Amino acid sequence: MRTHFLGQESETAMRIRRLDMFRVEFVTRNVAAGSLSKRIGYPEGTPLRNPPLVEYYYKDDALGDPLLCMAHLDELQVISPEDLSETTAVAKKVNEVLQAFFAARSLILVDYKLEFGKDSQGVIRLGDEISPDTCRLWDSETSEKLDKDRFRRDMGGVEEAYAEVLRRISG
Ligand code: UDP
Repeated sequence: MRTHFLGQESETAMRIRRLDMFRVEFVTRNVAAGSLSKRIGYPEGTPLRNPPLVEYYYKDDALGDPLLCMAHLDELQVISPEDLSETTAVAKKVNEVLQAFFAARSLILVDYKLEFGKDSQGVIRLGDEISPDTCRLWDSETSEKLDKDRFRRDMGGVEEAYAEVLRRISG
């Protein structure tokens, strides 16, 4: 997997390759939740018919990062069809790896977000983090939310949930 990562500088800092980022967020979903549930009316927790489903969002704060359809992507020219096909394939592959990784730790990967960019040689690289800030992670047994939704929805127990995820992935 080609990424922006070059090396760890300290516990909280890493050295990365500079990328020219695509103005697109790739959201990959296995189970309905959040904005997808609102958009298509599936109750949260509904398994998707043919997962994973990959959505494209326009990175534009003023517009509120709207969902884009293929016609919009083509109109905006934010990413070429070839680059879209490569990045989408990587997003799906990452999903496969992460799903198995989290499943082995009793966590369901509901959905997650990734961003990509091109390096100075024009090579597409992943340039993002994977964390409970960018993934929905539910306990496999209880479906308890162990991610940023606890903060977004004012559910409390944010630190405990993040610590539990850390404990499971490092333990
Ligand atoms: N997400 C993210 N950054 C964003 C928007 C979404 O990391 O700017 C992640 C979010 O954590 C979730 C997934 O993308 O895992 C899908 O989010 P959704 O579209 O349901 O939107 P939200 O509920 O965050 O409004």
